[in-house]
Amino acid sequence: MNGIRILPEAVACQIAAGEVVDRPASIVRELVDNSLDAGADRIFVRTESGGRRMIRVLDNGRGMGRDDLLLSIERHATSKIRTADDLFSIRSLGFRGEALPSIAAVSRMTITSRLSGELGGHRLSISAGRLGTIEEIGTPEGTIVEVKDLFFAMPARRKFLRAAKTEAGHVAETVSRMLPAFPDVFFKYQEGGREIINAPPSSDVVPRFVSLLGRDAADAMLHGEEQFQGFTVRVFLVPGAFSRSRADRLFMYVNKRYIRDRLLTKALLEGYRERLMKGTYPQAAVFIDLEPGLVDVNVHPTKQEIRFHDGNAVFRALVATVERCLGSSSYSIPQDSNPVGGFEIRPLQADREVSESEWRYEKRLDGWVGPDLVSGWKTPEQTSFADGPRLLGSIGGTYLVCETKEGMLMIDQHAAHERILYEELKRQVQDSGIQVQALLLPLQFELSTGEKRILDEKADILQKLGVELEHFGGSTYILRSIPSMLQQADWREFLPELIASVDDVGFDEGKIFEAAIASMACHGAIKARDRITDSEISALVSRLRDAGIPGNCPHGRPVFNLITFREIEKMFKRVV
Ligand code: ADP
Ligand code: MG
Repeated sequence: MNGIRILPEAVACQIAAGEVVDRPASIVRELVDNSLDAGADRIFVRTESGGRRMIRVLDNGRGMGRDDLLLSIERHATSKIRTADDLFSIRSLGFRGEALPSIAAVSRMTITSRLSGELGGHRLSISAGRLGTIEEIGTPEGTIVEVKDLFFAMPARRKFLRAAKTEAGHVAETVSRMLPAFPDVFFKYQEGGREIINAPPSSDVVPRFVSLLGRDAADAMLHGEEQFQGFTVRVFLVPGAFSRSRADRLFMYVNKRYIRDRLLTKALLEGYRERLMKGTYPQAAVFIDLEPGLVDVNVHPTKQEIRFHDGNAVFRALVATVERCLGSSSYSIPQDSNPVGGFEIRPLQADREVSESEWRYEKRLDGWVGPDLVSGWKTPEQTSFADGPRLLGSIGGTYLVCETKEGMLMIDQHAAHERILYEELKRQVQDSGIQVQALLLPLQFELSTGEKRILDEKADILQKLGVELEHFGGSTYILRSIPSMLQQADWREFLPELIASVDDVGFDEGKIFEAAIASMACHGAIKARDRITDSEISALVSRLRDAGIPGNCPHGRPVFNLITFREIEKMFKRVV
């Protein structure tokens, strides 16, 4: 084909629509933004079939009269700005005048609205961008937007919609993210008649975090607020013990708009600093309120990216606020005797290279298993180790206690098991190659752009490790095979972690292997926590013997620790 052609208006609209609305969740975001801009304090969202069949957003905002209703579906029609200068003083969530026409271009839409103070309202219907009818109708004050048959005229786009459950999940996430920024608004979300979110207005922000972070993390949150020249920074910080291997629980709001921003993420990490294990991310929310003129929100059609005019000042302010909030609080590195609560936030020693994986058990410690729950251990009499350490038992559900010729040997069973997996995977890679297991039921993944990029760069190396991913189109990937040793792992959870783990290690193949194997070992070990078999204990102990001196494992925190008889005798003042 050749020759340049101007696209028909309808096609242009559909293309533009693709940038603003790509799935039910983005439609919900735009519609709820409109409701918030209209001053609503009650916003109810409903979907059918995850929004593929129907999306409805009902609000009690100021509504629209007949003329505005007709205008609202025109492209670049907005009541929120008038001149280009207004772009620099945007206080509303919307301003581009694109959402309604974009949604209208790809669905069958009705907008029913009654201007506050008027006696009756109007309903407008529009299908694939073509205006249908507009009629008078009795309706409550406010606006109801109903979007049906999303992408019905665009089979190619419709194909990319995921299962109803997946799409509903995205919608729920979108609505959840708005909750903390608008605690005085009553939000509800129902899918297929089932209530998913019910958030009555609340004077306290913290309850609004529960659906985002879970109750425990929300309860542990610390609050700080600082004023700076021209802006305010408010933070809600979950202590480092709740940190995650991915930055998926960071919530940033600039003038109440949920945004994603690298600079703010970096500042947050900087503020937490040693309270966080290397390579992990905190759970936290940041609210920055500043003069609209000091930030550009018109960077991307979805308005989730922003640009600060003085990014430096904001960066420093956030670091300072986080430091103060964490520092002044009662939370600090515990010096108490609780062996479990303590170790995950012990500061790293500079002379040891600590790979992040060794520090991940703490995430599971909420479901802490007490000694009586450790299964599979035999009594010392039943267990024999050639002439090696003799197992006496385990304490704290974590530490094996053994007697050796030199004294008392303690083994961190989690770290030890991880170590075994690590060594074994490493050996397999070096020798014959990893043993691979094809998945009978291949798993399907939706990857983020970031994850796709990492895969583009490193898929072949992951494949050598037995992780075979096939690109299925769009952001969809199919996981076809996995290393046999990691059959037990929950790959839904693990794959994103694995991909993230190979991201910032550069392009050296050895380093990438190392990072991936460490991540795999870590994940495998966690799952096997209380199921280490006798043979694994023997393997572990014989390895310990082979390695010579316990206690200084090359990676991360110690796996073994020996308290010598001499130390014990000192303890009991038998020697000085
Ligand atoms: P924008 O939000 O960028 O202005 P939209 O296409 O989302 O563009 O909406 C166009 C206009 O329609 C808005 O400026 C607003 O005046 C009006 N509008 C949309 N939704 C609502 C609503 N729920 N209540 C009142 N007015 C609305
Ligand atoms: Mg809008």
